Amino acid sequence: MLVHAHPDDEVIPTGGFLARCADEGITTVLVTCTDGSQGYGPEFVNSGDVGHSPELVASVRLGELEASCEILGVSHLELLGYSDSGMEGWESNRNPDAFCQADLQEAATRLSKLILHYQPDVLITYANNGGSGHPDHVNAHLITLLADDMTDIAKKLYFVVRSASFNERVRQARESIEMDIQRPESVLRDARPNIDHLITTVIDTRTTIARKQRAMYAHLSQLRGSHWLQLDEASLRDIFATETYIRARDKTGATVPESDIFVGLRSPNVISHT
Ligand SMILES: [Zn+2]
Repeated sequence: MLVHAHPDDEVIPTGGFLARCADEGITTVLVTCTDGSQGYGPEFVNSGDVGHSPELVASVRLGELEASCEILGVSHLELLGYSDSGMEGWESNRNPDAFCQADLQEAATRLSKLILHYQPDVLITYANNGGSGHPDHVNAHLITLLADDMTDIAKKLYFVVRSASFNERVRQARESIEMDIQRPESVLRDARPNIDHLITTVIDTRTTIARKQRAMYAHLSQLRGSHWLQLDEASLRDIFATETYIRARDKTGATVPESDIFVGLRSPNVISHT
């Protein structure tokens, strides 16, 4: 079970893992906490600007999320039902339905019900800064830990992170290819902290790159005009060759580093093709 904040968050960090699970017949549940309603409207208009309809953005993004899940072979999509908070400091933060306004115990209870229903062996979410510092990502992290405490069902809990080499590969690709970056958010990015010493788990996602690319295209309303859709084949192969995770909780006793999230959970008679 993966707990993500917005429609589209599932693809770039965890799309390869999801597709590999589909290949192996492993059931996956994607929990998307918010409706993504503060994402871009047409022509990259932001929430509060003329031409931005949160309801319309949410409805477009739900269709995109469903298409992405189809491509990545997600078994079950669950929506936690919160409104997108928007970036920190936005007016939308004050929306009473915004995820950043949620009572965390109540939100964790919603997630706990899904955990009780699906009985996941593994929970995956972001690290404590949410990966991006976005308030909805931070809350996804917090409620996943709380819900895991409440249910005590998952045997392993992971944070998905971007390695320093991933960030460097993206930077190099952006420099080496002539890109027409239109999406405002893609123009400037603060340097991300190097957390490589915390990474426990690197999974090989080379067989999933084409699906990951198609899933990015499924989220066209948000990713068009970004560098992600302009990477050439060689860069995609390089950037998406692996996904990296920090194992934060474990009841299996499996040793780290590991190259398979399900180490310690697979039947000894089943030979994995890792
Ligand atoms: Zn997000």
